[in-house]
Amino acid sequence: MPSFSNVFLAAFCITFGLKLWLALRQMRYVWLHRDAVPEAFAASVDLDQHRKAADYTLAKGRLSLVNLALEGVLLLLFTLGGGLQWLGDRAVDTVSSPLWQGTLFLLALMAISAIAELPLSLYRQFVVEARFGFNRQTLSGFAVDLVKQALLGLAIGTPLILLTLWLMAAMGSLWWLWVWLAWMAFNLLVLAIYPTFIAPIFNKFTALADKDLKARIERLLERTGFRSSGVFVMDGSKRSSHGNAYFTGLGQSKRIVFFDTLLDQLDPNQTEAVLAHELGHYKRRHVLKRIVLMFGLSLSLLLVLAWLKNADWFYAGLHVARHSDAMALALFFMVLPVFLFPFTPLMSLYSRKHEFEADAFAAAHCPPADLISALVRLYRDNASTLTPDPIHSIFYDSHPRAAERIAHLQTLDSRGPAMAAI
Ligand SMILES: [Zn+2]
Repeated sequence: MPSFSNVFLAAFCITFGLKLWLALRQMRYVWLHRDAVPEAFAASVDLDQHRKAADYTLAKGRLSLVNLALEGVLLLLFTLGGGLQWLGDRAVDTVSSPLWQGTLFLLALMAISAIAELPLSLYRQFVVEARFGFNRQTLSGFAVDLVKQALLGLAIGTPLILLTLWLMAAMGSLWWLWVWLAWMAFNLLVLAIYPTFIAPIFNKFTALADKDLKARIERLLERTGFRSSGVFVMDGSKRSSHGNAYFTGLGQSKRIVFFDTLLDQLDPNQTEAVLAHELGHYKRRHVLKRIVLMFGLSLSLLLVLAWLKNADWFYAGLHVARHSDAMALALFFMVLPVFLFPFTPLMSLYSRKHEFEADAFAAAHCPPADLISALVRLYRDNASTLTPDPIHSIFYDSHPRAAERIAHLQTLDSRGPAMAAI
């Protein structure tokens, strides 16, 4: 039987080879289509804008290659290179209680990963985003965000890790069920408090002031039978000029949030159409389906972890001599993505299906032409490529390609709003 080291190395080569191949394909495809605007967009996107989108995609592609190399080296150093073993030993040297040893070890691991990613985040924000005119953040703003994220991570992460490790040690053979219940309760709690307690740490939210737009939105909410605790504008412009809109919160606490940058980009008809699309995600129960799917996946992953936690070959195969609950967690969540990555297209497909459904919902409640013009505007202003590589897109894209999405909306348009509702 092959040792687990070899199985892991084989999966590592497949996953990283696949990622590299996809990134290079995307860059080549975008480069080859750089000099011609696709016909469907010829009236709304000029050649300079199209080239800017290509150059932006290529710049992000080069960054993703550096990120891929960093990710691969770190993973190998931590596992086969003995990094986790070393870090675990340091935690044991520092504190005496096994519970705190495990917590310290996991927190240190997260801190090291975050620090390793920092140079790339800085480069992304202050070189790539800045070069294409999207960065609105200052270095001090970036530092303040970083400190807030670290403190929030500590405040949330420490009790969660302590509770998980305690349940793993104290609950016998059914520990995985208890950990699952705790994680899911915790998840729901974070979702519920996010809009009122967590998001305001990073951004200012103000009630939508534009009376006309507000009245239109209220009519749309009424037409679609949607209840929410308000429509807010977020100061997204303090970090980036990319625009967006989203829903947040659970049940009655859910609210609609527009980035101020989105309201600057779109006219009221387009804004209403974008909101109708977002409402479609709620009305078609996409949020609920995702939560249920995530709960099911977490349970199956914990069952696998329960099996691996007691398997000597798992630790030995990843060059770790120290067996502990914290080590099992670290190894599992570090190595897992290597085995799961080839299944990425399934999640992307599921997500694109939801996007088509939300577009159909929007087309039933607003003129599809408004959503089309909003999308074109957003593609153009955000320099999103109109010509992604089809295979890269099948793999990664949570949204359908621009041309496909617009073609779909056009079919809804010709059938008229009444038909589109079916
Ligand atoms: Zn969507």
